[in-house]
Parts: sequence; structure tokens; C-alpha cells
Amino acid sequence: MSPNDQPSASPVKVLYVLGRGRSGSTIFANVIGEHEGFFSAGEIRYLWDPVARNDAACACGLPMSSCPVWSKVLVRLKDVPLDDAGRWQREVVTERNLRKLLRYKHDGSWPSLENFTAVMARVYAALAEVTGASVIVDLSKRPSYAAVVRLLEGCALYCAQMTRDPRASAYSWGHSRHGSVFGEDKEVPRRNALDATVRWDVLTMEAEMVLRRLPEARKMRLRYEDFVAAPRATADRVTALVGEGGASSPFVDERTLNLGPNHTIAGNPSRFSSGELVIQDRGEWRTSQSKMERRIATLVALPYLRRYGYPLRTGD
Ligand SMILES: [Zn+2]
Repeated sequence: MSPNDQPSASPVKVLYVLGRGRSGSTIFANVIGEHEGFFSAGEIRYLWDPVARNDAACACGLPMSSCPVWSKVLVRLKDVPLDDAGRWQREVVTERNLRKLLRYKHDGSWPSLENFTAVMARVYAALAEVTGASVIVDLSKRPSYAAVVRLLEGCALYCAQMTRDPRASAYSWGHSRHGSVFGEDKEVPRRNALDATVRWDVLTMEAEMVLRRLPEARKMRLRYEDFVAAPRATADRVTALVGEGGASSPFVDERTLNLGPNHTIAGNPSRFSSGELVIQDRGEWRTSQSKMERRIATLVALPYLRRYGYPLRTGD
């Protein structure tokens, strides 16, 4: 019996975090990745370009080509030309293509997408094989890339839509210093409240388009505020969603856990931190945000506030 005649293995579960940057998703993904059977891979949409192209640093501190996880994954994909993978991705994974991606049935009419999905299905399979995990946590966040993962053969997509109060999000985008997602010494540009919140609206709308295509048992809403209020209970809800509710928890109490080294690629610089972590919300925006900024964010996100359980007034 050749390997191809073997009965097909169970699908790789991909827990995809949908949402906006600065919504606490990096720390959330690292926490979930500490559970038995879960592997937090970081922002996989950046794998080919720029991460593999530049042999960028994994969160373990080693370049991809030396990381004990990613080097083995890349060996299994060494026949994939980097330039082609990057080109297919640039052509396919754009927000403009979201509707088309959500409608696509593997009928061969979109060769770049067929090529790209064939390669990416191998990436997730290799990650599962190398790490032994049954769930790969993908922090790519973008709805358009989630629509691609939905098409991957051998993968079962689960989505956690992470949101954060749009006023807090606007404050973070306007005031916090953040390094580049690739570990370069370069700051991500700040955005004003209008710009930041329009983007919040667009990504929320697009995330909902992806979620509508998934059955109830494959999706959940996940508010940052609920996660920081009850981290362990929220993590338990997430592991239950992917059918791994019995996974041993890394928490030592309701909000404290020890983070080991991880192997995430790209993403917020906080991915490099390890050691004891007490999850809590500093909530700096509540006292430091200007009234004008807060009103702009409230007005622009108004259609979504009630739907996501955020109050109209935040005490200013
Ligand atoms: Zn690594």
C-alpha cells in the first residue's frame, strides 16, 4: 500500500483569530498556544513574504532557517519557489478579492488561488506534523486570508472574531508606540481616531462576511474585554470550540500562567515575551483619551457598538 492509499488523516484544525491589530490578539494567541495540543504559529499570512524571504526571526530568537520548528516546516516545502508563493499571495489575498474568495469553489478557474491553496494546505499539514499539535493557531487576522484558509483541503477552519472597544482601539492606534511586526527597529505609523475607527468598521464588516460562511459550531465572538475579565474561563471556551475542551490548561489561577518560549512568526513584538504572565487590562485609554477623540470613535463605530455589547457612553 503506498502512502497515498492510506485512509486520509483527520483534518488539521486551524483556529484563526479574526480581527484588528492592537486588540490583545497576540497575547491571546500565545495563551491558547500554551494549551496541550495547540501550536501558536503567529501571522502565517506573512510566511513567504517577508518572513521566509528575509529569514526573519522567529519568536524563539532564531532565524527561520535555524528555528527547530520552522526549519523543519520549510524543509518539507523546499520545492516551493519563494517568488511564486509570494506572487500568488499578492495576487489572491487582497481585501478587494474577499467576495470572490468567499464564493470560490475549487473549479480551477483561478490558477493562482489553486496554486496558493495547494501550497498553504501543505504548510498547515507540516506544522501539525512537526509540532504534533492537533490545532494550529493562526493570528493572521485579515478576513481575506481567512477566506483562503477556508478553502484549504485537509484543514478545518474555526474562527474566533476578536474585538476590542473601538475607543480603546483608537487610543492605542493614536498613542502607543509599536515596533514593526517583523522585529525591525521601525515604528508602525500612528493613526488618528477617525482613520483608526473607519478601519475598525471595515474589518468588522469583512470579518462578519467570513463568519456568515461558517457553521455555528465553527465560530465565536471574542471580546478582548471578556478575555481580560476572565482569562482562564475565556480560554476554556475557545478550546471547547475546537473540540479540545479537555486540553490541560497552563493557568495556575484564574488570570496567571507561565508562558514558555514560542515559535510565532511576525506579529506584535510582545510575542517575544515569556515567563509568568498575569493577564489584566491597564485601561489607560479610560483616563487619558481626549473627549474629542472618544466622540469621534463612538460616532464612527456607532452601528456596531450595540451589536458587540459596547456602551454608547464610556464615562467621559
Ligand atoms: Zn522558533
